[in-house]
Amino acid sequence: MSASLSRWLLLAIVSILPWQLAHATSDNGISVDLAKYANRATLPDFTAAACPDNPRALVQVKGNLYRHTTGPGLAVHSGFVLITREGALVIDPAMTCTAGWLRDEIQHRFSVKVKYVVYTHGHADHISGGQVFQQDGAIVVANQRALEPIVGEKIPTAVPNKVFDTDMKITLGGETVLLHRVAPSHSDSMTMVLFPKYKALQCTDVCESKSMPYNDFLDFYYPGWIETLDWVAKQDVDIIDVGHYSPATKADEAALRTYMVDLHKQVLDLVRSGQSWDQLYRNVKFSDEVKHWIAFDTMHTLNIVGMYRWVSNHRRGEW
Ligand SMILES: [Zn+2]
Repeated sequence: MSASLSRWLLLAIVSILPWQLAHATSDNGISVDLAKYANRATLPDFTAAACPDNPRALVQVKGNLYRHTTGPGLAVHSGFVLITREGALVIDPAMTCTAGWLRDEIQHRFSVKVKYVVYTHGHADHISGGQVFQQDGAIVVANQRALEPIVGEKIPTAVPNKVFDTDMKITLGGETVLLHRVAPSHSDSMTMVLFPKYKALQCTDVCESKSMPYNDFLDFYYPGWIETLDWVAKQDVDIIDVGHYSPATKADEAALRTYMVDLHKQVLDLVRSGQSWDQLYRNVKFSDEVKHWIAFDTMHTLNIVGMYRWVSNHRRGEW
């Protein structure tokens, strides 16, 4: 090979390499003009105070897929973490006081920075701490419907850099992450996050893990919740992180769907039979299976409250 030809080859390789690396990471999200929100008002961050005793962990699920947790016992919040050679993707940091630890842990163990943070929905208990990663260069992603509550409720976290309407695809280090909005369910901004290679799904707060839905169905849309569980049933997944407790399966979500449909039918039938709240809540029946779910004792009456409120707001009756 002549000297000039080998020099040409070297030049070609050197000029192609950075181009390939630059395209190993990509997404089709819509950019948000963050300058518009630079001086927005925020509330005090209830997760910011130093929390040295707060439990935290980053545990391998399979291959490059990990799961982070923060918080003690039943107060635990969680999200999947994908580690690739091009950087990491973190779902829902949840607490500012442990987000710095998570950032450093990923750096120490895998020698990569966090490239993406995905918010599952616009609720402060899951998306707090986003600013720790955004300030470190991460792209924060959410459904476009999360923007309004984040700004309107003055939630002290990062405003998303990128948003999407129904679907978004992130390619990172040769791995694919799919974001999808099914319907309003637990909030109007709920995002399902699929990791096809790992048959894993992030389904925060709409899915449960042999656990009761939280309190009185905060920010609740009944039909979209059922639609979301029907969508989950069709996915080729065998591990579902629900944002709390421990990971679940599709069988757990089928059981949750049965519970939700049954609760809705019971409350609707009791309201239609003319029962007042004081009668109604004593007459709702729970299966033995549901009675064994996490937090049944503290949540079951509140679940009736939430369903009673939904049913009352979405019927008219004879006149
Ligand atoms: Zn929530």
